[in-house]
Amino acid sequence: MKSIGLFGGTFDPVHFGHLRTALEIKETLRLDEMRLLPCHTPAHRGLPCCNADNRLQMLELAVANEPDLICDDLEIGRGGVSFMVDTLTALRSDLGDFVSISLVLGMDSFLTLPKWHEWQQILQLAHIIVAARPGSEMPEQGIIGKLVHAREALVFEDITEHPFGRILIRHLTPLDISATRIRQLIAHSRSPRYLLPDPVWDYIKQHHLYETVDRSTDI
Ligand code: ATP
Repeated sequence: MKSIGLFGGTFDPVHFGHLRTALEIKETLRLDEMRLLPCHTPAHRGLPCCNADNRLQMLELAVANEPDLICDDLEIGRGGVSFMVDTLTALRSDLGDFVSISLVLGMDSFLTLPKWHEWQQILQLAHIIVAARPGSEMPEQGIIGKLVHAREALVFEDITEHPFGRILIRHLTPLDISATRIRQLIAHSRSPRYLLPDPVWDYIKQHHLYETVDRSTDI
């Protein structure tokens, strides 16, 4: 069965935490494709600092020399608020029933799942692969704890040989990098170098991005 990973996010900007997570999951599960999918307008958080075109271009620069990572402009092309359930429905009708689709989420995003639009549909359309992330722990109890208990994948084949419905938790190289921190560094005229690819940092400087975001937080 063909297997596809879908790593959604704001990517405001993309950084090595995203890229390393996507690559390690693709390699360890031997997925056929790993798509990085920037949202147009996020459904569950404030507006991004950068517009969709800038975020997409940074992502394209970030994966330009990495054939194992693909940039997918589906949500940006669709416009409006990006609901993951709509994206997965479109992908499923495009790819058919006999393809394994896995939505990749960092632990912090996974913990917000019960607040997502039609979230219960998501596991009828895709698997969820959760990347542990420094600072976010998996709860034993509550909606998420029970969901993982009921759906946890025990072997990689639970993901790659079935089209949807399982949850896999992966502990990868922990990289405590966030786009928030990168935006704050830039706003304070500090360098974010080595937290994100150089071509992305060059693009940010060239377009004067993030220079005027909120400087009230200490860094
Ligand atoms: P922000 O700081 O603006 O919230 P972010 O760095 O969390 O941004 P997003 O674009 O919001 O990045 O995240 C996209 C996806 O990548 C989410 O599922 C998030 O959990 C995951 N992610 C982000 N950074 C990391 C990291 N360092 N390690 C693992 N997963 C990450």
